[in-house]
Amino acid sequence: MKYIGAHVSASGGVEFAPVNAHEIGANAFALFTKNQRQWIGKPLTAENIRLFKENCEKYGFLPEYILPHDSYLINLGHPEEEGLEKSRAAFLDEMQRCEQLGLKLLNFHPGSHLNKISVEECLDRVAESINLTLDKTKGVTAVIENTAGQGSNVGSEFWQLRYIIDRVEDKSRVGVCLDTCHSFTAGYDIVNDYDGVFDEFEEVVGFKYLRGMHLNDSKKELGSHVDRHDSIGKGFIGFPTFEKLMKDPRFNNMPLILETIDETLWPQEISWLHSVES
Ligand SMILES: [Zn+2]
Ligand SMILES: [Zn+2]
Repeated sequence: MKYIGAHVSASGGVEFAPVNAHEIGANAFALFTKNQRQWIGKPLTAENIRLFKENCEKYGFLPEYILPHDSYLINLGHPEEEGLEKSRAAFLDEMQRCEQLGLKLLNFHPGSHLNKISVEECLDRVAESINLTLDKTKGVTAVIENTAGQGSNVGSEFWQLRYIIDRVEDKSRVGVCLDTCHSFTAGYDIVNDYDGVFDEFEEVVGFKYLRGMHLNDSKKELGSHVDRHDSIGKGFIGFPTFEKLMKDPRFNNMPLILETIDETLWPQEISWLHSVES
């Protein structure tokens, strides 16, 4: 079965996210548990937590199908001590918020070397950041999102995801989220070589680590390394590839999240995706 939703708004409080997800016909969703553009979020209140759990139960959202995303400010591979410490503290806070909400996954972008250290050195720092955080938390899996490889962002190639996973001590709490737009603009041709790309993913990373997907079409071409999402069917990826994904059992039973640009289309996108699943 496919669990499909979108990255919905949590404005006014995390407890509104499941309501917003229900309204667009989702059976999965993503959210920010704090303002994604600020380092320090207001702590969750007992009331936020109670209402979040109550609304998830009311609308039938299980923690397995909820994929929170961390703040865009965090760089777990930061080349400088100060930036790295600040990022690690903020990431720990994000993980603890997930724990408080009874969530099991936290999706994040691995990091950026900022042209000051090598890709490998950056990936080493990311892995160490994950280890430090997992040591201090329980029950939440760190879910590494592949990137488009824009600027100095690491994580656009499958070997880099594997490199991080290899260095994480608790392999039961590390996973991967594949973003279709990021994969495509990173150079993985899921349109013309769908089987080849996912065979390579299985070989290099392994589907056993796949915890979720971001379903986005792309405004930019294959291999452009530019991260510009488009609505499903409107970009360079197109409907047939999303139909293949929906018919592919390897993507069953995990959150499949739209981060597409026109939220008024989300109900339509979700119902189309379900209509072609098998
Ligand atoms: Zn992301
Ligand atoms: Zn994404």
